[in-house]
Amino acid sequence: MSTTSFTKKTLGLEMAEPAVTPPTSTGNATTFAKKPKLRGKSKKREIPEGLWTKCPKCSTMVFDKELDENLKVCTNCQHHFPIPARHRISSLVEPSTFAEMDATMTSVDVLSFTGVASYTSKLEEYQKSTGLTDAVITGLGRLGQQLTALGVMDFSFLGGSMGSVVGEKLARLIERATAECLPLIIISTSGGARMYEGMFSLMQMAKTCAALAYHAQARLPYLSVLTHPTTAGVMASYASVGDLIIAEPGAMIGFAGPRVIKDTTQAELPAGFQTAEFLLDHGLIDAIVPRKDLKARLNDYLNYLMNGAGSVEGEAEGRLKRGA
Ligand SMILES: [Zn+2]
Repeated sequence: MSTTSFTKKTLGLEMAEPAVTPPTSTGNATTFAKKPKLRGKSKKREIPEGLWTKCPKCSTMVFDKELDENLKVCTNCQHHFPIPARHRISSLVEPSTFAEMDATMTSVDVLSFTGVASYTSKLEEYQKSTGLTDAVITGLGRLGQQLTALGVMDFSFLGGSMGSVVGEKLARLIERATAECLPLIIISTSGGARMYEGMFSLMQMAKTCAALAYHAQARLPYLSVLTHPTTAGVMASYASVGDLIIAEPGAMIGFAGPRVIKDTTQAELPAGFQTAEFLLDHGLIDAIVPRKDLKARLNDYLNYLMNGAGSVEGEAEGRLKRGA
């Protein structure tokens, strides 16, 4: 009985409120009265659930599970979110065929770098939060019928920056591909060279490209896939020297940031500058492939470029053709 009377009282108070607030014609007062109620509601929905992600392009709230099932692509506007390297690998290679290489290789703080935090503590922090040892995973896996050397970068590890481990793991992968007559796919995403390793980071650009030159000399295909964002030292080395350069829709691709270029050249930058679409129009990349089509497309390219060589059936034939 007491509960009922309590509810009735609150109802009575709420009923009284609209009469006190000014009429709708005075817009400011109405929005001021409404705002706190809306904020309270949306906070209650977002924080305790933690199951929704807001799409930065279309502002739709996408259910996380749906996003995962759709390879981290917005179901409403097809915006491509960053995808963890392991998730990417499982979306490309046949189940249980990926054998990781150099999984335990970790960086050493050669410069004893200390800024806001020491490099060692940064490495530990990112290793813990991402479950990765560095910003790239490399290994051999089967894509369709084709055994392929695959390197996949992960932006969530220190901005996908290239230090000595990224360079060394990729160089070893490329050398293995050359030695075993395998095609190579590297999926890049990076903010550039890793400042914590100074010159050692920059040396990785030459090292990876030298290994790629031997791979090319063996007449083996290298497909470079650029994902959002691929910039600076990575774009200026192995990411831009693929036999085919493919990008994901809307990916930002470039060397220096647009602000730096604008300040240096003192010129107005064209619309869409440094996007995958702009670079396709200007001939730097060969194709834009949506994530859901990537596996099939890479498979087609490899089949065409390898011409049966390296596949389970065609391996012997391929080696004969190359005189190996
Ligand atoms: Zn969207």
